[in-house]
Amino acid sequence: MLPQSADTIAAVATAQGRGGVGVIRISGNNVQKLAQAILGKLPKPRCATFANFQQEKGETLDQGIALYFPAPHSYTGEDVLELQGHGGPAVLQMLLQHCIDLGARLAQPGEFTRRAFLNGKIDLAQAESVADLIEANSAEAAKCAFRSLRGDFSAAIHRLIDELINLRMLVEAMLDFPDEQIDAVDLTRREELLNSVRSKLQLTLDTAKQGSLLREGAHVVIAGQPNVGKSSLLNRLAGEDVALVSNIPGTTRDVIRQAIQIRGVPLHIMDTAGLRESQDAVENMGIARTHQTLSRADLILLLLDASQGITTEDKSILAGLPPEIPRLLVFNKADLLIGKPITDLEVSDPYVFVSAKTSEGLDALLTGLLDAVGWRDMESGVFMARERHLRALTLAQTSLKRAQDLIARPELFAEELRLAQLALDEITGEFTPDDLLGEIFSRFCIGK
Ligand code: GDP
Repeated sequence: MLPQSADTIAAVATAQGRGGVGVIRISGNNVQKLAQAILGKLPKPRCATFANFQQEKGETLDQGIALYFPAPHSYTGEDVLELQGHGGPAVLQMLLQHCIDLGARLAQPGEFTRRAFLNGKIDLAQAESVADLIEANSAEAAKCAFRSLRGDFSAAIHRLIDELINLRMLVEAMLDFPDEQIDAVDLTRREELLNSVRSKLQLTLDTAKQGSLLREGAHVVIAGQPNVGKSSLLNRLAGEDVALVSNIPGTTRDVIRQAIQIRGVPLHIMDTAGLRESQDAVENMGIARTHQTLSRADLILLLLDASQGITTEDKSILAGLPPEIPRLLVFNKADLLIGKPITDLEVSDPYVFVSAKTSEGLDALLTGLLDAVGWRDMESGVFMARERHLRALTLAQTSLKRAQDLIARPELFAEELRLAQLALDEITGEFTPDDLLGEIFSRFCIGK
């Protein structure tokens, strides 16, 4: 266990601006002294105490509720005092300044949560989910972050680690008795345990990928020939006119970006210049940008004019798309198809029919979009995960895959298990380098 931090930190914990209530949070070894100075007494632990917040000469700065949480039963694990006053910037700043005059120092971003982590109140994955919960932009993202904060993600990681430890004990016990023969029973048992941990790891990785998608979103690029309705579709998805729509080909020249949410999943949609042969130098610069943007997409929405079917130009665009990026073909202007049967489409990619003009088929497009970016409705158990968690889980998965190949060679097998465990330990913060901690907590807001 790491030692408690010696100094006392203070910050306004509520958002900037005016509000009914504003909270100052103070944590550290000097909290009792500060409480005496500001409140004239130490409030009863964990009880709401109505009090005047005073300066030295008895001048009252504000009045409100004081809450005192003695260590270790507090958010940070240290003595914590929370002062709930009136939520105006001037009054909160006066109170904060007074705390600093009394010896506290201004907290750095995320410092309260960092102390909670260092004092063993929460693990690293939980600490990260505090920031994710605050930053969540949708109910789904908030629910997911809360599951991680509650410890669901950490519990899944700990279950994997426990199974790995079991397996390591089995193998390492054998290493201690090198003269004994490895018999078939040992091998079978080893294989069973390894398979079990590998399949659980896969499940955790799948769930974490969903959480990461909810947090980071996906980059979706709309591409296609000029005039097929790309800008109209972007506007329809965004619910507002963010892109110019006209029947003059080549209207969109630069990439237009718009963040939207579909059923809580954030998508960064990009409308691009129509792909065609052009003599116009500026339009050609736009087309070059379209190609750059396409190469970085998570999904390409290739728009086609449903009334024209797949034209030769569409086929050549399709052939030029980066093959490794998933795509969804969107036949727009489906409203023009009334009475015209849709003939057999010879396409291997998934497709939908839609009308950006009338919204016909929009629901199917949204479902197809979510499916194509990899969203699976796992409502019951998705927990928030970050890119670094996915990296660690993938690393562990690779080690276990190698372990499988080395199953009959105990020393090498044991080493791969150790590496897998090390990768998982990084998620919960058992072995995390200081600079990574600095990076994680610096992205928090002050007061958290
Ligand atoms: P872009 O060049 O691909 O971005 O296409 P625009 O969104 O600028 O649209 C080109 C033309 O097609 C405009 O006149 C739009 O009003 C029309 N348009 C777009 N979507 C639809 C649709 O779903 N149905 C019909 N009938 N017209 C559409």
